[in-house]
Amino acid sequence: MLNIVLFGPPGAGKGTQSEKIIEKYDLVHISTGDLFRKHIGEGTELGKLAQEYIDDGNLVPDELVIRMVEVKIGLHKDANGFIFDGFPRTVTQAEALDEMLGKRNMPIKLMLALEVEDEELKTRILLRGKTSGRVDDQNDEKINNRIKVYKKETIPVADYYRKQSKYKGINGVGRIEGIFNDICMAIDLVK
Ligand code: AMP
Repeated sequence: MLNIVLFGPPGAGKGTQSEKIIEKYDLVHISTGDLFRKHIGEGTELGKLAQEYIDDGNLVPDELVIRMVEVKIGLHKDANGFIFDGFPRTVTQAEALDEMLGKRNMPIKLMLALEVEDEELKTRILLRGKTSGRVDDQNDEKINNRIKVYKKETIPVADYYRKQSKYKGINGVGRIEGIFNDICMAIDLVK
């Protein structure tokens, strides 16, 4: 079982690289951002609860995220492994994930952290906003808030995995294929 956390600030390329990783290693992709956007699109109760947080670039409360991930994991009993994209984003979520996976005897093997400078992130997100239709991709204030929230609440998650010797930094700037190669080398060392 190959369980990986793909970590990095908004706009680092987690979605793009996830698509490539799941194809090569046959993993199930769990993107909490995508799951929330699906709930919002379908008008579910969870979507309604999450929408305001997301539109403002704030984090959705931990208990909602954790429950949603637990349900999703439970739907894939035969998976070769999971790639967690945009989750965990707080230390509380990381602890909950360890507990969920511990119960199933399938711990996280690796955290891949995509590293990209702030200015580059903003440029990428604004560019994505032209086609993504995402409210949270649309203006400087919302984007700055997401980066601020990342630094305050999410960066500590990297230390959480560093302490478990699972952290691997990846330079997230350059050609998509080159970054993917670096990712594959890191995965092949642990798999
Ligand atoms: P993303 O697509 O990963 O950039 O996520 C978009 C938005 O969804 C974030 O800015 C948060 O509002 C919310 N979100 C996604 N994942 C999480 C999470 N693990 N914890 C809290 N909020 C999340």
